[in-house]
Amino acid sequence: MTWETVIGLEVHAELSTTSKIFCGCSTAFGGEPNTRVCPVCAGMPGTLPTLNRLVPTYAMRLGLALGCSITKNSLFDRKNYFYPDLPKAYQVSQLYAPICRGGCVEIEINGQQKSIGIHQIHMEEDAGKLIHGPQGDTFMDFNRCGVPLLEIVSKPDLRSGAEAVAYLEKLREILLFLDICDCKMQEGSLRADVNLSVRRPGGPLGVRTETKNLNSFKAIGRAIAYERARQINILEKGGVIVQETRRWDDDKGSSSGMRSKENAQDYRYFPEPDLLPLRIDDDWLAAVQRDLPELAHDKRQRYALNYGLSPQEAAVLTSHTRLAALFEELVAQCGEPLESAHLVTGEILRLLRQTNTLPEALSLDAHKLATLIKLFTENKISRAAYKEAIEAVFLHDADPAAYIAEKGLQLQHDDEAIHRAVQAVIQDNPGAAAEYRAGKEKAFGFLMGQAMARLHGAGDPASVKQALLTRLR
Ligand code: ZN
Ligand code: MN
Repeated sequence: MTWETVIGLEVHAELSTTSKIFCGCSTAFGGEPNTRVCPVCAGMPGTLPTLNRLVPTYAMRLGLALGCSITKNSLFDRKNYFYPDLPKAYQVSQLYAPICRGGCVEIEINGQQKSIGIHQIHMEEDAGKLIHGPQGDTFMDFNRCGVPLLEIVSKPDLRSGAEAVAYLEKLREILLFLDICDCKMQEGSLRADVNLSVRRPGGPLGVRTETKNLNSFKAIGRAIAYERARQINILEKGGVIVQETRRWDDDKGSSSGMRSKENAQDYRYFPEPDLLPLRIDDDWLAAVQRDLPELAHDKRQRYALNYGLSPQEAAVLTSHTRLAALFEELVAQCGEPLESAHLVTGEILRLLRQTNTLPEALSLDAHKLATLIKLFTENKISRAAYKEAIEAVFLHDADPAAYIAEKGLQLQHDDEAIHRAVQAVIQDNPGAAAEYRAGKEKAFGFLMGQAMARLHGAGDPASVKQALLTRLR
């Protein structure tokens, strides 16, 4: 008999607001410990929180993108627990009336579409960080306290590690294109906890465990395979699964029990008395809907439909928000979608790799590139000159017109100059000309090369070819 794996994910996404959820402190990553704190986020008695309006705005963005229902009267609750990274000894979170419920994330697995349900999305504040010193000391850094989070809780609809990773990749893409989270797993701005149980197909749900400390998609896949095998092994030996929270150790490739899993009542949740209920009126919701950024999925469809791009090209362009933005700027400026797509997926990606630059660090003058596309499509520069000039713009922010003039890269359309060059080549190479006239096609390539060389590569190839054919008749 086989076992079925049942997985639900709790994803924490740090929102890319510049200030924290309940105070004006900076949310920037890192910094000297305890320099981005104030009495509010340090949990001093007597302080009061003020909600950052962007946090519910971003939550609504995600909720609308995933087809959730938006709670018109949303409430904050206190989740009480004592841990040194939480100076107030409670986290302001949402339990009874989270801002979003329902909705789903569509994933593709082995060519099949599958819909993964969303249980809820709630807003909450992040905790600080413990820093363990070399002498066994532990230090506290509260800079991260109060950084806004969205917790996205899926339904237990996932059935394998591959499905979990596909779900996370899709969610990551949506968060990035909505421009609400930078999704840097290495900096902890996107974190996932895995709830997993196994059962006989069609049978009742088994006891689940929660695995934490997963810092990459690869770690999540490995942790799922490990936990599935561990639970099956226990059950097949007649044992029982203990409901608990486990910590994944990626170096060892195994997890160990941290604490028995708490239930909601263990946190003694109660309504947050320092914050009013959050009322979301129709105007606010309509404004968020109106300003909703276009998602990667919709961009891919539009690129294929409106511009005739291949699915592969559209996928590469939407693999990063910055690449899609550059492509759209180029199309807007030069009106050449196919050549703009070739430029971004070809030369720009090659130069990014060559210079070890991440797409988010890309700073390019789209106007300069659009000028080059125009020059190339209007046959004013050769392909080689086009590539050379792109590189000059990418590496040195060169001015395209000045660069081409300085290097003499304009294509020669001047009939006079072309005819003179062609005539000289035929005179200098009577043997090759005679061979071509006697039917040796190969000789034409040689003569063509000579003529292009004489024009220093700046002759328009079509014009040169025509002149040569006329002369050789
Ligand atoms: Zn603060
Ligand atoms: Mn949480």
